[in-house]
Formats: sequence, C-alpha cells, structure tokens
Amino acid sequence: MSSPDLREEWADLLSRRPEFAATLAPYGDLVERWARWEPGRPLALGWTAAECRERWARGVPLVAAAPPAIRADQIEDLLAAAMDHLAALGDGVLPGLQRLAQAWDAGRLGPAALLPAPGRIGSPALAELTGLPAGALEFLACGSLRPALEAYCAPCRAHLDDFAWALGVCPFCGAPPGFADVIEDGRRRLACHLCGGGWLFSRTRCPFCGTERTQDLVRLEPEARDQGYLVIGCDACGSYLKELDRRVRWNGRSALVEDWGSPHFDLVARRAGYHRPLPLLTQLAAGG
Ligand SMILES: [Zn+2]
Ligand SMILES: [Zn+2]
Repeated sequence: MSSPDLREEWADLLSRRPEFAATLAPYGDLVERWARWEPGRPLALGWTAAECRERWARGVPLVAAAPPAIRADQIEDLLAAAMDHLAALGDGVLPGLQRLAQAWDAGRLGPAALLPAPGRIGSPALAELTGLPAGALEFLACGSLRPALEAYCAPCRAHLDDFAWALGVCPFCGAPPGFADVIEDGRRRLACHLCGGGWLFSRTRCPFCGTERTQDLVRLEPEARDQGYLVIGCDACGSYLKELDRRVRWNGRSALVEDWGSPHFDLVARRAGYHRPLPLLTQLAAGG
C-alpha cells in the first residue's frame, strides 16, 4: 500500500480549488490506484546507511546502483491507466502508445525501460521505439512506477543526512525534482514525484543546471491570494520549479499534491517562457 493519505490530501486540495476538479480528474484516479496498489512480493531495498552513503559519496542514486527487480505484471495495471489518461489528451500520442503496448505485450519492453536515471526518465530505447515526447514518457513512468519505487526506496530514506547529497537529482531514484518546499528552518527541500523521496538543496542554485548566478534565477510571484507560492525560473537553462514556503503556508499538503493541484502557476511559468521536466498533463494537452 502506497501513500494512503494522498487520497485524503487530494480531496482536500480539490475542495480548496474546485475550479480544477475536471481538469485534474486523471490525477485523482492515479492517486486512488496507487493507494490500492499491492507489490505482490517484497520490493524494499535493504541497504545499510553505509551502503547507501558509499553510493551517494560517488554521486550515484540508489536505483542506478541497484535497479529494482519490478516485474511487468506488478505495474501493468497502473501503466494501462496512465496510458488511457494520456490517450484522452488527443490523437497525436496514439501511435506511440500503440507501439508501447505492442512492445510491452511482446516482452520487448518492461518496467526497467521506465526507470529514472540522472538526466532522464525512461531508457533511450523506450523513447526511440515509441517516438513519444519526453513529457509523455515521464508521465507514464511516474504513473506506473511511483508506488513500486516508493516501496523500494522508503527504507533507505532515513540514511540520508543533511550532507550526503548535493546534486539536483533525487538521491534515491535519480529523477529530477518535481517541486520545492521551504521548510521551517528556511532551507529548501526538493521533492521527487517518482519515488516520494526528498532532499535538501541550496536555495540559491538551480537544481537543473547548477547555476548560482543570482541574475539567472527569476522569481515569479503568483497572485496575492496564493501567498507562499513561488515559481523560480532559470534563465541559464530555461527550466522552472514551483516552490511553497511552508513558513507562510503551514497547512500546505504533500509536495506532489501541491504541484499537481496548482496548474495555474505552471501557466504563469509557461507564459514567461520557462519549461519543466515532468510537465503536468494539462501542459501535455497544450502540446508541451
Ligand atoms: Zn526519487
Ligand atoms: Zn538552470
């Protein structure tokens, strides 16, 4: 069972922002499916703190060092649901989804092809075979793998101390950050949507390209009613990340829920010319 409270958080978010209920319905479905997911057999990575830190000291995320043995049948219901949500966006992705379904059924592609690695989500073979845009593949990977990767990585979360990891990708699974939180002590914690992990990261650096030039990092403040929320765009690499200051908005929900539930901030970022890894479904529908 994965993140049972996400369902409650999601329902709460939609009650705060009912205007998004229809647009965001696919996410509600995914959250529901994740909560019902059962691994079927144990998946957890049982590494000690020393074993994890040895990889982190070399800049290697745990999933890259020891890919989980996820079987196709463990995640194919989730993958099918994610594919359906993607298909509903428009005809453009249908041929790619058909190629994916055929290769999956023939055993030519499996869960390993969807795994994150530093710098990308999903294998080059997956992108080549399906011809689907990166954002679509990232959505499929997140929708299908999240509960399995969460079960796999969760036991190692306690091993991450404040100084073990300084990179802009998830120390557990290698995915790029999906959201940022400013926590009580003023530090920034990046959140990973693929495995549910999080890690501390400098507030004055872009996690995507590493720039620390203050003139490159642009703060876009949404409307006054959304106090505490911020979009940070990077002029060096063109990426952006949404951020929530938990000191201002103490009743905010999980990073994933806050991210998925605030497509209006993504609109602000897109209009300003920035893009993000792991785009929202609403952005994929708009061709991004
Ligand atoms: Zn992760
Ligand atoms: Zn950057």
